[in-house]
Amino acid sequence: MNDSTIPAQPSCADPFEPGSLSVEQARLRILAHADPVTGTERVAIRQGLARVLSDDVISPINVPPRTNSAMDGYAVQGADLPAEGEVSLRIIGESYAGTPYGGPLGSGEAVRIMTGGVMPMGSDSVVIQEQVVATGDVLRVGSGHRTGQNVRATGEDLAEGEVALCAGRLLTPADLGLLASLGFAEIGVRRRPRVAFLSTGDELRGIGTPLDEGQIYDSNRYTLYAMLSRMGVDLLDLGVVGDDKGALEETLTAAAGDADVVISTGGVSVGEADFTREILARLGQVGFWKIAMKPGRPLAFGQLGSTLFFGLPGNPVAVMVTFHQFVRPALLRLAGAETPDQFARLTAVCSERLRKRAGRAEFTRGIVESRPDGTLSVRSTGRQGSGILRSMSLANCFIVLPAERETVEPGETVQVELFQGML
Ligand code: AMP
Ligand code: MG
Repeated sequence: MNDSTIPAQPSCADPFEPGSLSVEQARLRILAHADPVTGTERVAIRQGLARVLSDDVISPINVPPRTNSAMDGYAVQGADLPAEGEVSLRIIGESYAGTPYGGPLGSGEAVRIMTGGVMPMGSDSVVIQEQVVATGDVLRVGSGHRTGQNVRATGEDLAEGEVALCAGRLLTPADLGLLASLGFAEIGVRRRPRVAFLSTGDELRGIGTPLDEGQIYDSNRYTLYAMLSRMGVDLLDLGVVGDDKGALEETLTAAAGDADVVISTGGVSVGEADFTREILARLGQVGFWKIAMKPGRPLAFGQLGSTLFFGLPGNPVAVMVTFHQFVRPALLRLAGAETPDQFARLTAVCSERLRKRAGRAEFTRGIVESRPDGTLSVRSTGRQGSGILRSMSLANCFIVLPAERETVEPGETVQVELFQGML
């Protein structure tokens, strides 16, 4: 701005800017540009955690492979179980997990069986050991039992030929166990997205060196590193780049050739955007967005060639909030992951007053807890400045206050987004 009029209110302080995007609009625009990476590889299943399945996994076997006992007790024929009174059966053998009873079981007979033991041929029910009296080879069983009880049927978990896990599945610990239970040693997964990240700012110093006047440590690259690590993407740390056109252009040019996504922090606020805008305009198509949210309002997003570019704000909390709301879903899409609702919200009772004006969504850092009556209670982590990283460190959720909401009074309900394990 080089004319001499002073604006009545600088635009960066105006929450009612008509050109602002809502969080959801911004996310949709971003996702429209995120296409899954191509390329697959085979990995040992232990390496499969947080990877994305490239193909459906079809079960080659029945799970469980044989009908077996769900309890420790005695395998019997349901027809022998008395409707009233009691019956005496003859114990003819044992079936342990891994060591089945060899022969058939007839009427009037019982086989001692342990959990996981294969049901002897001819048996269909298990009476649990606490409900019988065994003396020598005589088993006395009372009434109240049911044919088929305490038995796990062959294939009841998964039948041979059934789809066990679908392509696009982001593998969890349970999935690795499931794959092992089917006997898979390796699985096909998509290639990981490659993500380059950097911090920008002349004031930033690397850790391990003393600070001069006006300098601060670069923390954003560490939160980014950690958030990206949890997502299981390939990382390329580009370090800190000063507010220097040549250096920034060089770094971004190299990164764009090398990565699927480049994430920078800093340099997109009103005071610095022109400088970054000029460089990005030469390298690709990047828009500078005002998003009706707090923290995290300025955001640059676009493409450097075929590489997606995110220019996140410099403030440490804004970095984490915008990463969670925009970068994470885009990376999951790029990874080819079919994820259920990533922004599932819970309702909690707010225990304090949260001052707010209508006009933009706020992501207040909160601590949510269960109350004895089964409902949830949430409080803020205290001071909420977007430079106060402790507000994130202490939190286990965002209290999401939609744009139209005004001040929350104690006892009112709010929506929370849990982020434990993610941020
Ligand atoms: P900027 O968006 O570059 O104007 O930065 C906004 C605020 O975030 C300033 O106070 C910066 O000093 C701070 N900041 C920017 N980058 C980082 C970083 N990598 N680590 C910690 N603070 C940062
Ligand atoms: Mg800066």
